[in-house]
Amino acid sequence: MGKKVWLNGGLVDRENAAISVFDHGVLYGDGVFEGIRFYERKVFKLDEHIDRLFNSAKIIMLDIPVSKEELKQAILLTCRESGLDNGYVRPVVTRGTGPLGLAPWKCSNPSVFIIADTIQLYPAEHYRNGMPIVTVPTRRNISEAVNPMIKSLNYLNNILAKIEAKTAGVEEALMLNQEGYVAECTGDNIFIIRKGVIYTPPVYAGALPGITMSTVAELAAGMGVNLIDKLFTRAEIYTADECFLTGTAAEVVPVISLDGRVIGDGKPGAITRKLVERFQEYARANGTPIG
Ligand code: PMP
Repeated sequence: MGKKVWLNGGLVDRENAAISVFDHGVLYGDGVFEGIRFYERKVFKLDEHIDRLFNSAKIIMLDIPVSKEELKQAILLTCRESGLDNGYVRPVVTRGTGPLGLAPWKCSNPSVFIIADTIQLYPAEHYRNGMPIVTVPTRRNISEAVNPMIKSLNYLNNILAKIEAKTAGVEEALMLNQEGYVAECTGDNIFIIRKGVIYTPPVYAGALPGITMSTVAELAAGMGVNLIDKLFTRAEIYTADECFLTGTAAEVVPVISLDGRVIGDGKPGAITRKLVERFQEYARANGTPIG
């Protein structure tokens, strides 16, 4: 566990890493964040995550008070200082402190902090044997409300879905959009495989443009397997040959049932297993050295 947190320009002890109760990130969930893994002292897809963070900030008109390069160096420093070879790093930008009331223009100093730690989203056996999931009643936010493309501090939509999954006795929830099409899971993108082709919902269905998704698309292409964006319903997941989820924290995790319907033969499928393996190899071999 890292002993220091990077906060507004430098490293501070964890115990002293605090932001104000008047920060609008705390008061209103007004801010953006990223989750990034590092493997064997290399940060995976660092530039892609930084670009997405800046895009999220741009959409909510939040000026990040450091440059992309400064943020990159701060992330590498925080990882280095953590003493971990493998871990998860979380940059967060909040709107900053201001008076009560939503007005973001009254907040003058956005806060930036970076935590390096470890994360395990699902039990290890789910990676070997596959994971059951359920569809939950909470729908994914519509793009015209809080656009799911924004990785904002406003994760209550997904937290409600996660609670519903837990109440149903599983670890992850399938979220549909307002039209009933599959969007994504609470912290992961979803994929099905049918007749050797991989399908995933397009971003406009209510999915975050996943960086692990892009990696999996490249790995699949290298295996001669096509990945196609397509709208589909949960009935198409029940009848798929294979299903899996991707995310930075989740990595690639096989799904073996949805709402009690067994997918394929109820074991992680052949293409999924290959992707799990190739992803692990690729992630360990590529990335920005933490120095
Ligand atoms: N969807 C949601 C809602 C997420 O929060 C995340 C990751 N945190 C993902 C999908 C997966 O994105 P990535 O592969 O870039 O981590």
